[in-house]
Amino acid sequence: MSLAKYREKRDFKRTPEPQGRSKPGKGSLSYVVQKHRASQLHYDFRLEFGGVLLSWAVPKGPSLDPSVKRLAMQVEDHPVDYAAFEGVIPEGGYGAGTVMVWDNGTWSSESQDVEQALDKGDLKFSLYGKKLRGSWVLVRTRGFGSKPGKSWLLIKRRDRFASGKDITAEKPRSVVSNRLLAEIARDEGGDVEGASTGDPSPPSQIKSKKERLPKKR
Ligand code: MN
Repeated sequence: MSLAKYREKRDFKRTPEPQGRSKPGKGSLSYVVQKHRASQLHYDFRLEFGGVLLSWAVPKGPSLDPSVKRLAMQVEDHPVDYAAFEGVIPEGGYGAGTVMVWDNGTWSSESQDVEQALDKGDLKFSLYGKKLRGSWVLVRTRGFGSKPGKSWLLIKRRDRFASGKDITAEKPRSVVSNRLLAEIARDEGGDVEGASTGDPSPPSQIKSKKERLPKKR
């Protein structure tokens, strides 16, 4: 687990993303899903472990339906403080586009030994998020194309949090700012039109900045 690849891909003079330090976490381990409208919309699923955020890009996002397997491509480890990042990665930079903190919370392993489970390619865990809860599994698949060993499946396990409802469609907003992607892009000087393609239509859902501000008492 290392941040070398993460740093190699980014120019910290240009991106507002954290440079990050690798540090052992104290207490509970953080979990985050960042909805990312880059060249393709995807959901970055991240679990804190070993001082970094283990990261997978999930093109279709998580599903609460245990019969649905979602492709999760493992990507470079991210710094732990990346979990708080919501904003715009400037054009021309790696991952350029709009990032939303779609869900966050903590997680715990159901596998005895996390490192061993990762090696084996079968990690069972519980999520304590605001949108995603209960038991999940990440299973490595044989993979295909140029990235063998990097493709996994993210699957909900059967429990009382399993359901047929479409969580990504029903809960499209940020858990830290309640914004849609287009609202984040507008506030942070990003590509509003591009970002809005990752939001549910109609665009009339976008509230003006004024409406969102808390009323003064
Ligand atoms: Mn991403």
